[in-house]
Amino acid sequence: MSKKIAVIPGDGIGIEVMNEALKLIEAINEHDSFQIEYDVFDWNSDYYLQTNRMMPKDGLEQLQHYDAILFGAIGDERVPDDITIWEMIMPIRKSFQQYVNFRPIKLLDGIDNPLRHHVNKPIDFVLIRENAEGEYSNAGGRMFEGENRELAIQNSVMTRQGVTQVAEFAFSYANKHGLKKLTNATKSNAIIHSMKFWDQTIESVAEKYPTINYEKYYIDALAAYFVQRPYDFNIVLASNLFGDILSDLGSAIVGGLGISPSANINPEGNYPSMFEPVHGSAPDIAGKGIANPIAQIWSLALMYEQFDRQDIHDKILAGIQNVVSTKKVITPDMGGTATTNEVGDAIINKLYKK
Ligand code: NAD
Ligand code: MN
Repeated sequence: MSKKIAVIPGDGIGIEVMNEALKLIEAINEHDSFQIEYDVFDWNSDYYLQTNRMMPKDGLEQLQHYDAILFGAIGDERVPDDITIWEMIMPIRKSFQQYVNFRPIKLLDGIDNPLRHHVNKPIDFVLIRENAEGEYSNAGGRMFEGENRELAIQNSVMTRQGVTQVAEFAFSYANKHGLKKLTNATKSNAIIHSMKFWDQTIESVAEKYPTINYEKYYIDALAAYFVQRPYDFNIVLASNLFGDILSDLGSAIVGGLGISPSANINPEGNYPSMFEPVHGSAPDIAGKGIANPIAQIWSLALMYEQFDRQDIHDKILAGIQNVVSTKKVITPDMGGTATTNEVGDAIINKLYKK
């Protein structure tokens, strides 16, 4: 069995952490019959400065034929952030209908986090964020600029199809993975049109999954519960905006950006899904060789899971877990002194002892 993927390292530490993921792919190719072939695309801020585009005109067409996209991070002080994000990541997410943003929130043994002192139950849940519509829309506008009656309207757009399909994904994922409870993040007490519709649509999907306990919390209370009892969740389903905020909070309660992975999934498989760390290009540490490669490597593990190689996913995660809990080879963000390269090698060595 083999798959062909597109690799976009991007800018800054994106390039550094991607090197480690590619080394791991090579090691897996060497030891397993499952082969991943990859093409590397140099679409990044340098490319933009040379061509005035983040990717070629036919960039999406080029990517469309791959089985998946492995993405690093993008962002450079010489190019405005809204250009790098909106001309690269957003077009990929939207045109490839990656309407599920999947983020594991899992506290690995050995990681210090601000909550440890009062919980000794495992924190291990999945956050699913609606990734294609909702609050992040360009519907709305501004009127009467400069006048006292000036106003701005920003509409949230939720469709039956859009909400149903992300809810279907969440419930069927819960079903497949034996997760007992699904928590809906809402605010239907105050946002009465769109969020009531969100709740009702999710509840009609919930009826088809009677074995999964369904609960809903208002987003403000839920944010507090993430801190007070994060061990209580199995799967959390949130709209685009709420999911965006909850995923950074979720990352913070399990050890920070250096380890947090994500997947932008097109569940139908009509288009490639994209796997990327939650973090950006980290200009403050770029070029020093000290970026933590775990978020990128974990994102790669999610890609193997998507390719139905749960065993390789689990193996990579066990390698990460081992390196983290041994605490010998960890980068400065986790309190160590190791380099990006050393952490990458340590994880590979755990998988395939040399
Ligand atoms: P960032 O994630 O790049 O960095 C935030 C902080 O976390 C920094 O102190 C950084 O050093 C640290 N950090 C991040 N990843 C790390 C890692 N792997 N190991 C160790 N430390 C790590 O976010 P930012 O500083 O807000 O943004 C920097 C640039 O990245 C901006 O141009 C922004 O637009 C872009 N960005 C891109 C993406 C993406 O490509 N999907 C996501 C977020 C931000
Ligand atoms: Mn965000």
